Amino acid sequence: MARTPLIAGNWKMYLSLAESVALGQAVAASCAGLTDREVMIAPTCAVLSTVAGAIADSPVILAAQNVAWEQEGAFTGESSPVTLKDIGVSMAILGHSERRHVFYETDEMVNQRLLGALDFGLKPILCVGELLEDREQGQTFEVVQKQLSKGLQGVTAKQLEQVVVAYEPVWAIGTGKTASKEQAQEVHAFIRGKLATLYEKKLAEKIRILYGGSVKPENVDSLMAQSDIDGALVGGAALNPDSFDRIIHFI
Ligand code: PEP
Repeated sequence: MARTPLIAGNWKMYLSLAESVALGQAVAASCAGLTDREVMIAPTCAVLSTVAGAIADSPVILAAQNVAWEQEGAFTGESSPVTLKDIGVSMAILGHSERRHVFYETDEMVNQRLLGALDFGLKPILCVGELLEDREQGQTFEVVQKQLSKGLQGVTAKQLEQVVVAYEPVWAIGTGKTASKEQAQEVHAFIRGKLATLYEKKLAEKIRILYGGSVKPENVDSLMAQSDIDGALVGGAALNPDSFDRIIHFI
């Protein structure tokens, strides 16, 4: 079953309001005429509503960089999935390594966020990935498996169809060091195998698994040529309209 590739830009906490609108418009222009792939952007929360207006007439998918697990309540600093949906957000990045390692989000919190996103109709991108020391100690598969199974705890097979997984080795994020295509493919195949064990093979074949970690115009084509790599989650290179345009148009 063919999986539609997804190229996703994570803008992190970069760009002013005006810069965000301009980049949103540039990405929308890059997507003109594209029918065989999906493109998503995740601006910082404060500008989501305005960027939603800027890309309204385009196929660009708007995502949040995180989401609360409750609709409303005393959760200072969090964003409600319902409000996000109201303003045009349809996906959410969850468990990004910066959330896990800078803000100490646990697998349990990521799981709660993911279940909440699904309950309120947002499609989650569940990020998993090992630290450099994990890789050096031969722990990559163990770490990835734990983040995947704990992150998906309580997710039904029907709900899994809405989930995208992103493999992002922490040592490759923002460092300029990309996993080789072989390293990435090996972990992607492992993740798909794990999904087949947790659910079933036919369903695992439908799930998109993105690679993230210093994806650039120079390496996107070879990464995307791997059989289990279904897209890219792009940080730094997503902030430059020309670089992101080239990544969107991977061959
Ligand atoms: C990311 O933020 O998810 C990421 C992969 O960043 P970069 O592309 O800059 O490594």
